[in-house]
Amino acid sequence: MRKILIVGAGQSGLQLALGLQSRGYEVTLMSNRTADEVRTGRVMSTQCMFDTALQHERDLALNFWESQAPRIEGLGVSVAAPDSSRAIDWVGRLDGYAQSVDQRVKMAGWMDTFAQRGGQLVIHGAAVGDLDYFSRRYDLTLVAAGKGELVSMFGRDAARSPYGEPQRALAVAYVHGLGPRPEHPDFDAVRCNIVPGVGELFVMPTLTTGGRADILFWEGVPGGPVDAFKGIKDPSEHLALTLELMEKFLPWEYARATRVELTDAGGTLAGRYAPTVRNPIGRLPAAAWSSASPTSSSPTTRSPARAPTRPPSAPPRTSTPSSSRATGPSTRRGCGAPSTATGRRPSTSPSGRTRCWRPRRSTS
Ligand SMILES: Cc1cc2nc3c(=O)[nH]c(=O)nc-3n(C[C@H](O)[C@H](O)[C@H](O)COP(=O)(O)OP(=O)(O)OC[C@H]3O[C@@H](n4cnc5c(N)ncnc54)[C@H](O)[C@@H]3O)c2cc1C
Repeated sequence: MRKILIVGAGQSGLQLALGLQSRGYEVTLMSNRTADEVRTGRVMSTQCMFDTALQHERDLALNFWESQAPRIEGLGVSVAAPDSSRAIDWVGRLDGYAQSVDQRVKMAGWMDTFAQRGGQLVIHGAAVGDLDYFSRRYDLTLVAAGKGELVSMFGRDAARSPYGEPQRALAVAYVHGLGPRPEHPDFDAVRCNIVPGVGELFVMPTLTTGGRADILFWEGVPGGPVDAFKGIKDPSEHLALTLELMEKFLPWEYARATRVELTDAGGTLAGRYAPTVRNPIGRLPAAAWSSASPTSSSPTTRSPARAPTRPPSAPPRTSTPSSSRATGPSTRRGCGAPSTATGRRPSTSPSGRTRCWRPRRSTS
């Protein structure tokens, strides 16, 4: 099995693609966004990874940002008492440091590396119907598309998915200008601040597109006072609310945040998601069968030998709002067309190995 397609260029898809590539497999990586679009887009996570996970990247020699990213040497927990003092407050040192490298930096950099090393990077938002076609052209097709329409073909494993609803409303702000926690000015830590019944604020350093920064990450109990970011589009409004809630519930964290400013216009994120484990076996629409790897985000698809149905450039047979979103602006724009946002041709990598499926217009 030498010819492998991976759909999705996040932490899972890219790490796997680069690892397989380094072992001599012929890997095609499909992403619905170009590296530049990822780099200049919105933050996606807080992506703090601890020593064991970081070691996988070291083993694959993919730890390109290790010397620049802040070393997170501790982990601290503070619990707010009803009078907003701290009922519990401790910090411990980690055996091995953790790090957070903004996924905009890491994924864009890894995509470029993959292409420079000779991998085929295809810019295309794959739809479920496309997998019928792809799975016949490759020895193995892996879906590492995170969440969304494409992974929904792998059914929810109810026994391992206890929650049908999101348990927290998430709100992230990347900032410059945060002071150190006075208890440990000499080392960085992930600080978890718990407000019982209200939610948690995680604070951690990161390496972002503009260098070192810190992340203020509220996780609000749905329906509670921290579940207040929905509908806020203006990043400065998002930051103002973040700080207002910190001042109200966590004055000790607010005290070091009075001079912060957003790292960039894409430095905020808000949303919610019910954690879902998916079944390893799915079925492709045209009765082919699929199997998945143990994680919900990286299912594999395989199908019995059959004649290809149709090329992926054909319009989807069923078009839903979510599948339209999944294809993304780069797909709908087409590879050779200039980006309406940037005026650039978006999908040519430094090595020229990036390809783009140009969708045809439906005539029906
Ligand atoms: C606010 C927040 C904070 C978090 N903090 C942490 C943390 O501190 N530490 C931690 O370990 N984890 C954290 N996580 C979780 C972590 O970010 C995810 O587990 C991880 O990013 C998942 O990686 P993935 O590659 O499986 O999926 P994704 O990161 O979702 O990547 C999937 C990729 O596939 C692409 N794609 C999607 N659909 C298609 C399609 N149809 N065709 C082609 N491409 C497609 C997407 O554009 C994306 O690039 C956090 C998550 C959130 C939301």
